[in-house]
Amino acid sequence: MKATVKLVQPQESATASGVEGYRVLARKYRPTKLSQVIGQDFLVETLKRGLEGGRLGHAFILTGIRGTGKTTTARIIARALNCHVGPTPEPCGTCPSCTAIAQERSMDVIEIDAASRTSVDDMREIIEASRYRAVSSAYKIYIIDEVHMLSKSAFNALLKTLEEPPAHVKFIFATTEIQKVPATILSRCVRFDLKRIESPTLAAYFKTLCAQEAVEFDEDAIALIAKAAEGSVRDGLSLLDQAMTYGTSAEGIPHVSALNVRKMLGLSEQGAVLELFQTLMGGDIVSALEKLRYFYQEGSDPARIIEDLLDLNHWLQCLKINPDLAQDITLSPEKREKGLELAKNLTLPTLTRVWQMLLKGLDEVRRAPSPQKALEVLVIRLTHMTPLPSLQELLEGLGEGSEKKKP
Ligand SMILES: [Zn+2]
Repeated sequence: MKATVKLVQPQESATASGVEGYRVLARKYRPTKLSQVIGQDFLVETLKRGLEGGRLGHAFILTGIRGTGKTTTARIIARALNCHVGPTPEPCGTCPSCTAIAQERSMDVIEIDAASRTSVDDMREIIEASRYRAVSSAYKIYIIDEVHMLSKSAFNALLKTLEEPPAHVKFIFATTEIQKVPATILSRCVRFDLKRIESPTLAAYFKTLCAQEAVEFDEDAIALIAKAAEGSVRDGLSLLDQAMTYGTSAEGIPHVSALNVRKMLGLSEQGAVLELFQTLMGGDIVSALEKLRYFYQEGSDPARIIEDLLDLNHWLQCLKINPDLAQDITLSPEKREKGLELAKNLTLPTLTRVWQMLLKGLDEVRRAPSPQKALEVLVIRLTHMTPLPSLQELLEGLGEGSEKKKP
Protein backbone atom coordinates (compact mmCIF):
# COMPACT_ATOMS: atom_id res chain seq x y z
CA MET A 1 0.00 0.00 0.00
CA LYS A 2 2.89 2.29 0.76
CA ALA A 3 4.15 4.10 -2.31
CA THR A 4 6.79 6.47 -1.11
CA VAL A 5 8.06 8.87 -3.72
CA LYS A 6 11.75 9.56 -3.46
CA LEU A 7 12.84 12.87 -4.81
CA VAL A 8 16.07 12.92 -6.72
CA GLN A 9 17.74 16.08 -5.51
CA PRO A 10 15.94 17.34 -2.45
CA GLN A 11 18.82 19.60 -1.42
CA GLU A 12 18.27 21.83 -4.44
CA SER A 13 15.13 23.50 -3.21
CA ALA A 14 14.00 24.82 0.11
CA THR A 15 12.48 22.29 2.47
CA ALA A 16 9.22 22.95 4.22
CA SER A 17 10.58 23.45 7.69
CA GLY A 18 14.25 24.12 7.13
CA VAL A 19 14.05 27.66 5.81
CA GLU A 20 13.42 30.75 7.84
CA GLY A 21 10.30 32.75 7.10
CA TYR A 22 8.29 29.74 6.02
CA ARG A 23 5.08 30.85 4.39
CA VAL A 24 1.96 28.72 4.63
CA LEU A 25 1.29 26.82 1.42
CA ALA A 26 -2.00 28.58 0.71
CA ARG A 27 -0.21 31.92 0.54
CA LYS A 28 2.94 30.73 -1.13
CA TYR A 29 1.16 28.95 -3.96
CA ARG A 30 -1.88 31.19 -4.37
CA PRO A 31 -2.65 31.20 -8.12
CA THR A 32 -2.02 34.50 -9.90
CA LYS A 33 -3.25 33.55 -13.36
CA LEU A 34 -6.18 31.57 -14.72
CA SER A 35 -4.02 28.67 -15.92
CA GLN A 36 -3.04 27.99 -12.29
CA VAL A 37 -6.61 27.62 -11.04
CA ILE A 38 -7.48 23.97 -10.38
CA GLY A 39 -10.80 22.14 -10.53
CA GLN A 40 -12.81 25.02 -12.05
CA ASP A 41 -12.50 24.23 -15.74
CA PHE A 42 -15.77 25.81 -16.83
CA LEU A 43 -15.08 29.09 -15.05
CA VAL A 44 -11.51 29.24 -16.36
CA GLU A 45 -12.60 28.54 -19.94
CA THR A 46 -15.42 31.11 -19.87
CA LEU A 47 -13.29 33.83 -18.32
CA LYS A 48 -10.44 33.11 -20.70
CA ARG A 49 -12.66 33.46 -23.75
CA GLY A 50 -14.22 36.63 -22.33
CA LEU A 51 -10.84 38.21 -21.64
CA GLU A 52 -9.39 37.26 -25.01
CA GLY A 53 -12.42 38.51 -26.90
CA GLY A 54 -12.69 41.67 -24.79
CA ARG A 55 -16.28 40.75 -24.02
CA LEU A 56 -16.46 40.84 -20.25
CA GLY A 57 -19.37 42.32 -18.36
CA HIS A 58 -18.96 45.03 -15.77
CA ALA A 59 -20.12 42.96 -12.80
CA PHE A 60 -19.40 39.39 -11.74
CA ILE A 61 -20.58 37.31 -8.85
CA LEU A 62 -18.57 34.34 -7.65
CA THR A 63 -20.30 31.83 -5.43
CA GLY A 64 -19.29 28.56 -3.80
CA ILE A 65 -18.44 26.96 -0.45
CA ARG A 66 -15.51 28.30 1.55
CA GLY A 67 -12.04 27.55 0.31
CA THR A 68 -12.91 26.95 -3.34
CA GLY A 69 -11.05 30.06 -4.51
CA LYS A 70 -13.60 32.88 -4.78
CA THR A 71 -11.34 35.65 -3.50
CA THR A 72 -8.37 34.23 -5.38
CA THR A 73 -10.37 34.19 -8.62
CA ALA A 74 -11.62 37.73 -7.97
CA ARG A 75 -8.02 38.92 -7.64
CA ILE A 76 -7.02 37.07 -10.79
CA ILE A 77 -9.82 38.79 -12.72
CA ALA A 78 -8.59 42.13 -11.35
CA ARG A 79 -5.02 41.38 -12.45
CA ALA A 80 -6.20 40.13 -15.83
CA LEU A 81 -8.23 43.28 -16.49
CA ASN A 82 -5.64 45.77 -15.30
CA CYS A 83 -2.41 44.17 -16.50
CA HIS A 84 -0.64 46.68 -18.74
CA VAL A 85 -0.29 44.07 -21.49
CA GLY A 86 -3.94 43.09 -21.04
CA PRO A 87 -6.76 42.52 -20.59
CA THR A 88 -5.31 39.03 -20.73
CA PRO A 89 -6.00 35.64 -19.09
CA GLU A 90 -2.27 35.41 -18.33
CA PRO A 91 -1.31 38.62 -16.50
CA CYS A 92 2.42 39.34 -16.82
CA GLY A 93 3.16 39.59 -13.11
CA THR A 94 5.82 42.25 -13.65
CA CYS A 95 4.05 45.43 -14.79
CA PRO A 96 3.27 48.16 -12.21
CA SER A 97 -0.36 47.05 -11.95
CA CYS A 98 0.46 43.35 -11.44
CA THR A 99 3.11 44.09 -8.82
CA ALA A 100 0.88 46.57 -6.99
CA ILE A 101 -1.94 44.01 -6.79
CA ALA A 102 0.50 41.31 -5.63
CA GLN A 103 1.66 43.61 -2.82
CA GLU A 104 -1.94 44.54 -2.03
CA ARG A 105 -1.28 48.25 -2.58
CA SER A 106 -3.03 48.89 -5.91
CA MET A 107 -5.01 52.15 -5.82
CA ASP A 108 -7.32 50.80 -8.50
CA VAL A 109 -8.28 47.50 -6.94
CA ILE A 110 -10.36 48.08 -3.85
CA GLU A 111 -11.22 45.11 -1.66
CA ILE A 112 -14.15 45.49 0.69
CA ASP A 113 -15.33 43.01 3.28
CA ALA A 114 -19.09 43.42 3.27
CA ALA A 115 -19.28 41.67 6.64
CA SER A 116 -17.74 44.72 8.30
CA ARG A 117 -19.09 47.45 5.99
CA THR A 118 -22.76 46.72 5.59
CA SER A 119 -24.36 50.16 5.86
CA VAL A 120 -25.77 52.38 3.14
CA ASP A 121 -23.24 55.09 4.06
CA ASP A 122 -20.37 52.70 3.36
CA MET A 123 -21.91 51.92 -0.01
CA ARG A 124 -22.46 55.61 -0.85
CA GLU A 125 -18.81 56.28 -0.10
CA ILE A 126 -17.79 53.54 -2.50
CA ILE A 127 -20.14 54.74 -5.21
CA GLU A 128 -18.96 58.31 -4.81
CA ALA A 129 -15.33 57.23 -5.23
CA SER A 130 -16.17 55.10 -8.26
CA ARG A 131 -16.87 58.27 -10.29
CA TYR A 132 -13.18 59.07 -10.46
CA ARG A 133 -11.13 57.31 -13.07
CA ALA A 134 -8.56 54.66 -12.21
CA VAL A 135 -5.20 56.09 -11.13
CA SER A 136 -2.76 54.04 -13.15
CA SER A 137 -4.66 51.21 -14.85
CA ALA A 138 -7.56 50.66 -17.22
CA TYR A 139 -10.22 49.94 -14.62
CA LYS A 140 -11.25 50.78 -11.13
CA ILE A 141 -12.16 47.39 -9.68
CA TYR A 142 -14.23 46.81 -6.57
CA ILE A 143 -14.01 43.38 -4.99
CA ILE A 144 -16.79 42.99 -2.45
CA ASP A 145 -16.41 39.86 -0.34
CA GLU A 146 -19.37 38.24 1.45
CA VAL A 147 -21.65 40.57 -0.50
CA HIS A 148 -24.80 38.91 0.92
CA MET A 149 -24.05 40.68 4.22
CA LEU A 150 -24.94 44.11 2.81
CA SER A 151 -28.04 45.79 4.22
CA LYS A 152 -31.12 46.23 2.06
CA SER A 153 -30.52 49.95 1.64
CA ALA A 154 -26.88 49.31 0.77
CA PHE A 155 -28.01 46.92 -1.96
CA ASN A 156 -30.41 49.55 -3.29
CA ALA A 157 -27.66 52.15 -3.46
CA LEU A 158 -25.43 49.66 -5.25
CA LEU A 159 -28.18 48.73 -7.68
CA LYS A 160 -28.33 52.24 -9.15
CA THR A 161 -24.64 52.10 -10.02
CA LEU A 162 -24.99 48.59 -11.41
CA GLU A 163 -27.79 49.77 -13.71
CA GLU A 164 -25.67 52.52 -15.25
CA PRO A 165 -22.07 51.77 -14.42
CA PRO A 166 -19.29 54.16 -15.47
CA ALA A 167 -17.25 52.52 -18.27
CA HIS A 168 -14.10 52.40 -16.14
CA VAL A 169 -15.68 50.53 -13.22
CA LYS A 170 -15.89 46.77 -12.63
CA PHE A 171 -17.53 45.02 -9.70
CA ILE A 172 -16.54 41.55 -8.53
CA PHE A 173 -18.73 40.10 -5.81
CA ALA A 174 -18.02 36.96 -3.82
CA THR A 175 -20.46 35.10 -1.61
CA THR A 176 -21.00 31.80 0.14
CA GLU A 177 -24.76 32.45 0.31
CA ILE A 178 -26.01 33.41 -3.12
CA GLN A 179 -29.66 32.93 -2.11
CA LYS A 180 -29.35 35.99 0.16
CA VAL A 181 -28.35 38.27 -2.72
CA PRO A 182 -31.35 40.15 -4.19
CA ALA A 183 -32.48 39.00 -7.63
CA THR A 184 -32.21 42.58 -8.93
CA ILE A 185 -28.46 42.49 -8.22
CA LEU A 186 -28.00 38.95 -9.55
CA SER A 187 -29.68 39.77 -12.85
CA ARG A 188 -27.03 42.41 -13.52
CA CYS A 189 -24.06 40.15 -12.84
CA VAL A 190 -22.29 37.40 -14.73
CA ARG A 191 -22.52 34.50 -12.32
CA PHE A 192 -19.84 31.88 -11.72
CA ASP A 193 -20.42 28.88 -9.49
CA LEU A 194 -17.19 27.58 -8.02
CA LYS A 195 -17.46 23.86 -7.51
CA ARG A 196 -16.10 21.72 -4.73
CA ILE A 197 -12.84 20.39 -6.07
CA GLU A 198 -12.79 16.64 -6.73
CA SER A 199 -10.40 14.77 -4.46
CA PRO A 200 -8.28 13.25 -7.29
CA THR A 201 -7.71 16.80 -8.61
CA LEU A 202 -6.75 17.98 -5.14
CA ALA A 203 -4.45 14.99 -4.62
CA ALA A 204 -2.64 15.61 -7.92
CA TYR A 205 -2.17 19.26 -6.96
CA PHE A 206 -0.87 18.42 -3.47
CA LYS A 207 1.67 16.03 -4.99
CA THR A 208 3.11 18.74 -7.22
CA LEU A 209 3.40 21.00 -4.16
CA CYS A 210 5.20 18.25 -2.21
CA ALA A 211 7.64 17.92 -5.10
CA GLN A 212 8.23 21.67 -5.17
CA GLU A 213 8.75 21.71 -1.41
CA ALA A 214 11.07 18.68 -1.60
CA VAL A 215 8.85 16.72 0.74
CA GLU A 216 8.43 12.94 0.52
CA PHE A 217 4.96 11.49 0.75
CA ASP A 218 2.95 8.26 0.83
CA GLU A 219 0.26 8.02 -1.86
CA ASP A 220 -2.30 7.11 0.81
CA ALA A 221 -1.35 10.12 2.93
CA ILE A 222 -2.07 12.53 0.10
CA ALA A 223 -5.30 10.73 -0.80
CA LEU A 224 -6.41 10.98 2.84
CA ILE A 225 -5.75 14.71 3.00
CA ALA A 226 -7.55 15.26 -0.31
CA LYS A 227 -10.54 13.33 1.02
CA ALA A 228 -10.61 15.17 4.35
CA ALA A 229 -10.50 18.54 2.56
CA GLU A 230 -14.04 17.89 1.26
CA GLY A 231 -13.56 19.96 -1.88
CA SER A 232 -11.83 22.95 -0.31
CA VAL A 233 -8.29 23.75 -1.48
CA ARG A 234 -7.70 25.95 1.52
CA ASP A 235 -8.67 23.27 4.06
CA GLY A 236 -6.57 20.73 2.20
CA LEU A 237 -3.54 23.01 2.12
CA SER A 238 -3.70 23.74 5.81
CA LEU A 239 -3.86 19.98 6.51
CA LEU A 240 -0.89 19.46 4.20
CA ASP A 241 0.96 22.24 6.03
CA GLN A 242 0.40 20.44 9.33
CA ALA A 243 1.34 17.06 7.89
CA MET A 244 4.60 18.43 6.49
CA THR A 245 5.78 19.49 9.92
CA TYR A 246 4.64 16.23 11.52
CA GLY A 247 7.44 13.85 10.60
CA THR A 248 10.72 13.31 8.82
CA SER A 249 12.24 10.31 7.08
CA ALA A 250 15.38 8.55 8.32
CA GLU A 251 17.45 10.89 6.14
CA GLY A 252 15.90 13.93 7.81
CA ILE A 253 13.74 14.87 4.81
CA PRO A 254 10.19 15.97 5.68
CA HIS A 255 7.92 13.01 5.04
CA VAL A 256 4.13 13.03 4.86
CA SER A 257 3.30 9.49 5.98
CA ALA A 258 -0.08 7.77 5.93
CA LEU A 259 0.41 6.75 9.54
CA ASN A 260 0.91 10.33 10.71
CA VAL A 261 -1.93 11.69 8.62
CA ARG A 262 -4.30 9.09 10.07
CA LYS A 263 -3.17 10.16 13.54
CA MET A 264 -3.54 13.82 12.63
CA LEU A 265 -7.07 13.30 11.33
CA GLY A 266 -8.02 11.23 14.38
CA LEU A 267 -8.46 8.12 12.23
CA SER A 268 -6.14 5.90 14.28
CA GLU A 269 -8.98 5.39 16.75
CA GLN A 270 -10.63 3.26 14.08
CA GLY A 271 -8.26 0.40 14.88
CA ALA A 272 -9.33 0.41 18.52
CA VAL A 273 -13.00 0.56 17.50
CA LEU A 274 -12.50 -2.46 15.26
CA GLU A 275 -10.91 -4.41 18.11
CA LEU A 276 -13.72 -3.46 20.48
CA PHE A 277 -16.32 -4.59 17.96
CA GLN A 278 -14.50 -7.88 17.45
CA THR A 279 -14.41 -8.49 21.21
CA LEU A 280 -18.11 -7.68 21.53
CA MET A 281 -19.02 -10.13 18.80
CA GLY A 282 -16.79 -12.74 20.42
CA GLY A 283 -18.83 -12.36 23.63
CA ASP A 284 -15.75 -11.62 25.76
CA ILE A 285 -17.18 -9.27 28.36
CA VAL A 286 -14.11 -8.84 30.57
CA SER A 287 -11.91 -7.91 27.66
CA ALA A 288 -14.60 -5.63 26.19
CA LEU A 289 -14.88 -3.62 29.41
CA GLU A 290 -11.10 -3.41 29.54
CA LYS A 291 -11.03 -2.01 26.02
CA LEU A 292 -13.58 0.61 27.04
CA ARG A 293 -11.08 1.82 29.61
CA TYR A 294 -8.65 2.56 26.78
CA PHE A 295 -11.22 4.86 25.18
CA TYR A 296 -11.89 6.67 28.46
CA GLN A 297 -8.17 7.24 28.91
CA GLU A 298 -8.04 8.73 25.42
CA GLY A 299 -10.80 11.07 26.52
CA SER A 300 -13.45 9.60 24.20
CA ASP A 301 -17.03 10.48 24.89
CA PRO A 302 -19.35 7.43 25.37
CA ALA A 303 -21.77 8.67 22.69
CA ARG A 304 -18.85 9.11 20.29
CA ILE A 305 -17.72 5.51 20.89
CA ILE A 306 -21.18 4.23 19.96
CA GLU A 307 -21.27 6.46 16.88
CA ASP A 308 -17.93 4.98 15.82
CA LEU A 309 -19.29 1.46 16.38
CA LEU A 310 -22.32 2.38 14.25
CA ASP A 311 -20.05 3.64 11.46
CA LEU A 312 -18.05 0.44 11.63
CA ASN A 313 -21.20 -1.67 11.59
CA HIS A 314 -22.40 0.20 8.51
CA TRP A 315 -19.04 -0.38 6.80
CA LEU A 316 -19.14 -4.11 7.64
CA GLN A 317 -22.63 -4.41 6.18
CA CYS A 318 -21.44 -2.69 3.01
CA LEU A 319 -18.42 -5.02 2.94
CA LYS A 320 -20.71 -8.05 3.00
CA ILE A 321 -22.49 -6.72 -0.06
CA ASN A 322 -19.38 -5.47 -1.84
CA PRO A 323 -15.98 -6.70 -0.57
CA ASP A 324 -14.23 -4.18 -2.86
CA LEU A 325 -15.12 -1.49 -0.32
CA ALA A 326 -12.31 -2.89 1.83
CA GLN A 327 -10.00 -0.69 -0.25
CA ASP A 328 -10.95 2.23 2.03
CA ILE A 329 -7.80 4.34 2.35
CA THR A 330 -8.78 5.78 5.71
CA LEU A 331 -7.90 2.38 7.17
CA SER A 332 -4.46 0.86 7.36
CA PRO A 333 -3.95 -2.34 5.34
CA GLU A 334 -4.06 -4.56 8.48
CA LYS A 335 -7.36 -3.02 9.51
CA ARG A 336 -8.84 -3.52 6.07
CA GLU A 337 -7.98 -7.20 6.34
CA LYS A 338 -9.44 -7.45 9.83
CA GLY A 339 -12.61 -5.77 8.57
CA LEU A 340 -13.00 -8.27 5.74
CA GLU A 341 -12.49 -11.13 8.17
CA LEU A 342 -15.15 -9.76 10.54
CA ALA A 343 -17.61 -9.18 7.71
CA LYS A 344 -17.11 -12.75 6.54
CA ASN A 345 -17.82 -14.21 9.98
CA LEU A 346 -20.92 -12.18 10.79
CA THR A 347 -24.28 -12.57 9.08
CA LEU A 348 -26.29 -9.61 7.81
CA PRO A 349 -29.17 -10.33 10.26
CA THR A 350 -26.68 -10.24 13.15
CA LEU A 351 -25.19 -6.97 11.94
CA THR A 352 -28.66 -5.46 11.54
CA ARG A 353 -29.60 -6.52 15.03
CA VAL A 354 -26.38 -5.06 16.47
CA TRP A 355 -27.12 -1.85 14.55
CA GLN A 356 -30.51 -1.57 16.23
CA MET A 357 -29.04 -2.29 19.66
CA LEU A 358 -26.35 0.35 19.14
CA LEU A 359 -28.91 2.93 18.02
CA LYS A 360 -31.04 2.23 21.07
CA GLY A 361 -27.91 2.35 23.23
CA LEU A 362 -26.93 5.71 21.77
CA ASP A 363 -30.27 7.12 22.78
CA GLU A 364 -29.88 5.70 26.31
CA VAL A 365 -26.34 7.03 26.69
CA ARG A 366 -27.54 10.50 25.73
CA ARG A 367 -30.33 10.42 28.29
CA ALA A 368 -28.64 8.55 31.15
CA PRO A 369 -27.38 10.47 34.22
CA SER A 370 -24.12 8.54 33.80
CA PRO A 371 -23.37 8.01 30.09
CA GLN A 372 -20.39 5.85 31.01
CA LYS A 373 -22.55 3.38 32.96
CA ALA A 374 -25.14 3.31 30.18
CA LEU A 375 -22.39 2.42 27.73
CA GLU A 376 -21.15 -0.39 29.98
CA VAL A 377 -24.66 -1.82 30.24
CA LEU A 378 -24.93 -1.71 26.45
CA VAL A 379 -21.60 -3.52 26.15
CA ILE A 380 -22.81 -6.23 28.53
CA ARG A 381 -26.00 -6.59 26.49
CA LEU A 382 -24.05 -6.86 23.26
CA THR A 383 -21.66 -9.51 24.57
CA HIS A 384 -24.62 -11.57 25.77
CA MET A 385 -26.42 -11.37 22.47
CA THR A 386 -27.14 -14.86 21.23
CA PRO A 387 -26.82 -15.10 17.49
CA LEU A 388 -30.19 -15.25 15.78
CA PRO A 389 -30.85 -18.33 13.68
CA SER A 390 -30.84 -17.46 10.01
CA LEU A 391 -34.03 -17.64 7.98
CA GLN A 392 -32.54 -20.68 6.29
CA GLU A 393 -32.08 -22.41 9.65
CA LEU A 394 -35.60 -21.48 10.72
CA LEU A 395 -37.10 -22.88 7.54
CA GLU A 396 -35.07 -26.04 7.90
CA GLY A 397 -36.27 -26.30 11.50
CA LEU A 398 -39.90 -25.98 10.37
CA GLY A 399 -39.28 -28.53 7.68
CA GLU A 400 -37.89 -30.98 10.22
CA GLY A 401 -40.88 -30.33 12.50
CA SER A 402 -43.38 -31.22 9.79
CA GLU A 403 -41.26 -34.19 8.77
CA LYS A 404 -41.46 -35.51 12.31
CA LYS A 405 -45.25 -35.32 12.32
CA LYS A 406 -45.31 -37.82 9.56
CA PRO A 407 -45.56 -41.32 10.83
ZN1 LIG B 1 0.91 42.86 -15.75
